[in-house]
Amino acid sequence: MSSHQSHLNMSIDHFSVRIFSSDSIKARYIFVDSLKYGIVWRNVFLFVLLHVVYGFGLVHLIRERLWSSWIFGYWYSVFGGIGITCGAHRLWSHRSYKASFPLRAFLMICQSIAGQNDLYTWCRDHRLHHKFSETDADPHNSNRGFFFCHVGWLLTRKHPDIMIRGKTLCFDDLSKDPVIKFQRKFYPFFYIFFCFLFPTLLCRFIVGDTLLNCLIVGSFGRYIVSLHCTWFVNSAAHMWGDRPYSVKMEPRYVFISCFYDKYKLTDNLSGKTSGSP
Ligand SMILES: [Zn+2]
Repeated sequence: MSSHQSHLNMSIDHFSVRIFSSDSIKARYIFVDSLKYGIVWRNVFLFVLLHVVYGFGLVHLIRERLWSSWIFGYWYSVFGGIGITCGAHRLWSHRSYKASFPLRAFLMICQSIAGQNDLYTWCRDHRLHHKFSETDADPHNSNRGFFFCHVGWLLTRKHPDIMIRGKTLCFDDLSKDPVIKFQRKFYPFFYIFFCFLFPTLLCRFIVGDTLLNCLIVGSFGRYIVSLHCTWFVNSAAHMWGDRPYSVKMEPRYVFISCFYDKYKLTDNLSGKTSGSP
């Protein structure tokens, strides 16, 4: 048996121990995991900063009644939603349809507006999530608790099983797509420009609010709210809600998350029944 195989088997045994453990033991494993695989302090700092700035912005928004900038942020986030649902999710992760180069370029820009990592990383994580749902190889494994699958998975280092299992999937279609390659190469530019700079300037141009208000409400505010909407698809839709098909299934129907990703349960069913990642 190769070292790679033995490592894989060890990981599977390790996982099976967790499945049959009591909740308290399982919770201890999860805590140890978090310490073992490490916290990414840079991400913690950035997310805390973003929320603190937006907290002040929210008070400012209500006191100054900056509803126009808020409405602008809502409409701008619709394009980010199109980039995630139609682009990263249905087109690139699930290959549900084919798209011409101009449409792919448009969807790539929309996905940059959402600011949820570059397309290659997003689709790789999502394919792993479907293929190894609710195991340690699932990047946002809901067995590790609400906070972990909501945002914690972005604040900690990835579980080793993600790397091991990830090598069993093929991502050639992603790495060969020139649109994805271009975005990945210049992602810092796409992220800063389309997620923060462009909405601030556009808000200033359309609404006529001050640059600071446009930055805090139209840009940061829009970003935070849209991030939580997406994260609820990973957390709430896996932990609470109805399971009309089978009580053994983890993905569930949650009304609030359906605004953003239509129907998480159907998404997971299609991923499993079609055999697609
Ligand atoms: Zn999916």
